[in-house]
Parts: sequence; C-alpha cells; structure tokens
Amino acid sequence: MIAPGKVPAQELAVLKRRLREHRRFRQKQLQDLADPSQDRRTAAHVEIQASLAAAAHQVLSNIEVASTRMNTGQYGSCQQCGRPIDLQRLRIVPHSRYCARCHHAEDTRRAAIEPTGSQKSGGSGEDGCWSR
Ligand SMILES: [Zn+2]
Repeated sequence: MIAPGKVPAQELAVLKRRLREHRRFRQKQLQDLADPSQDRRTAAHVEIQASLAAAAHQVLSNIEVASTRMNTGQYGSCQQCGRPIDLQRLRIVPHSRYCARCHHAEDTRRAAIEPTGSQKSGGSGEDGCWSR
C-alpha cells in the first residue's frame, strides 16, 4: 500500500527526470538572456529580459527545493499546509511548492499587494513555463 500523500517511487522517478529537464531549460534560458548579442536596444527589452531572468531564477530555486525534498522524502507535500499536492499538478509543474489551494491563495495575496500587471511577469515562478 502507498501511504497517503507519498508520491509512488515509479512516479517519483518520472518527476525527477522532468525536474532535470526543467532545470536544463531554465539554465539555457538564463544563458540566452545573458548573451550579449541579444537585442536589448530599448528599455522595454531590458525590462522584459530582467523579468524573464527573475522568473527563471525563481523557478530554478523552486527546482532546487523540490530536488532536496525528493532526497529527504518530503516531496509531494504542500510547504504551506502540509497536505499532499495533487499528482496531476506535480506532473505539470514538478517543482510545485504548494497545493493548488495554497498556490491560488498566494496568487490572490500577491495580486492584492502588487501594482496591477506586475503579478503576471514573475508570479511565484510556479507555472512560468506554461503561461507563456
Ligand atoms: Zn497547501
């Protein structure tokens, strides 16, 4: 029997691989953003690149946390409420730190304190790859 809230070993292996793919993708993205041949003639370009880089850094830090939690057996539980994160959600965003409920609450909180428009640029870094 699988203990509730625990990610099955087989599933964990798949998610581990995905996590590595995400990490590679983000590292490549940061390299590209740091490329001096990139177009950054306008202030808008610089701003967009800065927010992309910030989002990539945020995702990378989430990936590191997820990877550590995989090694310590804590992976798959919400860092906010401790409840198991939906496996479906982990398959889409393997570096999710929060369950869908806490993630939504966090987004609402951010939207309330940040000026309009900025919460979509970086967000919590959770769903970055998929919203663009
Ligand atoms: Zn939660």
